[in-house]
Amino acid sequence: MSRVYNFSAGPAVLPESVLQEAADEMLDYRGTGMSVMEMSHRSKAYQTNIDEAEADLRTLMGIPDNYKVLFMQGGASQQFAMIPMNLMKNKVADYIITGQWAKKAWQEAQMYGQANAVASSADKTFSYIPDCSDLPISENADYVYICENNTIYGTKYWQLPNTKGKDLVSDVSSCFLSEPVDVSKYGMIYGGVQKNIGPAGVVIGIIREDLITEDVLPGTPTMLRYKTHADNGSMYNTPPAYGIYICGKVFKWLLRNGGLTEMKAYNEKKAAILYDYLDSSKLFHGTVVKKDRSLMNVPFVTGDAELDAKFVKAATEAGFVNLKGHRTVGGMRASIYNAMPMEGVKALVGFMEKYEKQV
Ligand SMILES: *Cc1c(COP(=O)(O)O)cnc(C)c1O
Repeated sequence: MSRVYNFSAGPAVLPESVLQEAADEMLDYRGTGMSVMEMSHRSKAYQTNIDEAEADLRTLMGIPDNYKVLFMQGGASQQFAMIPMNLMKNKVADYIITGQWAKKAWQEAQMYGQANAVASSADKTFSYIPDCSDLPISENADYVYICENNTIYGTKYWQLPNTKGKDLVSDVSSCFLSEPVDVSKYGMIYGGVQKNIGPAGVVIGIIREDLITEDVLPGTPTMLRYKTHADNGSMYNTPPAYGIYICGKVFKWLLRNGGLTEMKAYNEKKAAILYDYLDSSKLFHGTVVKKDRSLMNVPFVTGDAELDAKFVKAATEAGFVNLKGHRTVGGMRASIYNAMPMEGVKALVGFMEKYEKQV
């Protein structure tokens, strides 16, 4: 067996101990004689599993009692429609466009109401977060929408926008559980789990209770109503049971390792190793405005597309895989999520230093 250093933006690296536990429990989950994959979601063993997952997530994030935790399917992209269908009571919402994922959510919302783009960083290839201290928030906006960590462009909101009293809805797919968060500042936090928590397909929504109502867009399918999932403990139908089980293991891994405060400290140290090198290198440089840099996704370039491609190839051969940047940014992107060990980033920087000396 040989594991690589996997810098994929998603699906992405998971803690090795979690994968090992899952492997150990594959044929016989705790004396049930079956895999979690083969188990009724109505069984006692599974109910314990999902209950513990929710309780552990609540502990990790300090989720207040007046917020529901929903485990749903369809990935983050399904939420691009569910959010307006459920939350656009006045049929107006304000979107801040900081990249492709925010843009997709905004475009989807336009099908259901008036979705306004109140700020954007498209003018500089989304390499920064716009000033959100005094935006023209609509008087009757049902919510203000952001993508908090921009996976493709490597930017992160280090300060939440001034929503002027409107509920904030945030896509945290690529920074989920990477740092402590004050849930009470949001109407809704959601994310697909395949970046930082578990297998693709599962999406977790954390929603303030008063936002979960029957007053949804007419024609909203049963499965796309938050109330359906909230009223049934995320078990209206068969949930993505195996995926939730893996998420639960990652929650326990985080709790064992000191929770989100420790995780943030680790992530800061880890990212600094790479950013400090990029800031001193003559060959490579980061593409994001310093103050808006993500701790999770680090895009960088040499400035020469051919050289970029050569570097990616050499890195792959050396066991540093999935470093090719998104086609809209070019160059490279190192995604260094929670489960990427410090040694992985140190080894990558060591490789880059050596490479720089050769060219
Ligand atoms: C990956 C990603 C998505 C899309 O997730 P899917 O589960 O593939 O729908 C949405 N938003 C952000 C920020 C992402 O990183």
